[in-house]
Amino acid sequence: MTKLSPNFSLEELTHSDTAAVHGIDNAPPAGSVEHLRLATLAVYLEKVRRILGGRAIRIHDAYRCPRVNALVGGVPHSAHTEGFAADFDVAGQTPYETAMLLDAAAHRGELVFDQLILEQLPAPTWVHIGRRLHSEDNPPRLQRLTKAAGGAYLDGIVKP
Ligand SMILES: [Zn+2]
Repeated sequence: MTKLSPNFSLEELTHSDTAAVHGIDNAPPAGSVEHLRLATLAVYLEKVRRILGGRAIRIHDAYRCPRVNALVGGVPHSAHTEGFAADFDVAGQTPYETAMLLDAAAHRGELVFDQLILEQLPAPTWVHIGRRLHSEDNPPRLQRLTKAAGGAYLDGIVKP
């Protein structure tokens, strides 16, 4: 196991059930940009974990190679393919509670994200948090969205 941070390993951030089923190696090559970004994603997730009270975070899906991303129906150029996003849930919290805690932390200026998405109504099972490369001209959007039952995105974190 390759630890990237105290609580997150490379294996956790590159695991994919879909990749396993299709016999695809989902790990980005060592030394690739995506591989390096997973180390920064792990550090970022440590911060998320602290904000959520130090509870265990279960990663459903973080890095996706382009093939796996297509197989799971991810949007092209998804932050997952860049090593910038994670879908997760938290022990002892509903995904709605998790999303609201992260939303509040962003309001307090303690957390920056590009997109925070509660997925999906009517019974959410995880939260997506995504970053992106940002600059003065390309700031993080701090978007809060909820994925509806049909796959449409609603503005804000919507209570199930
Ligand atoms: Zn996601």
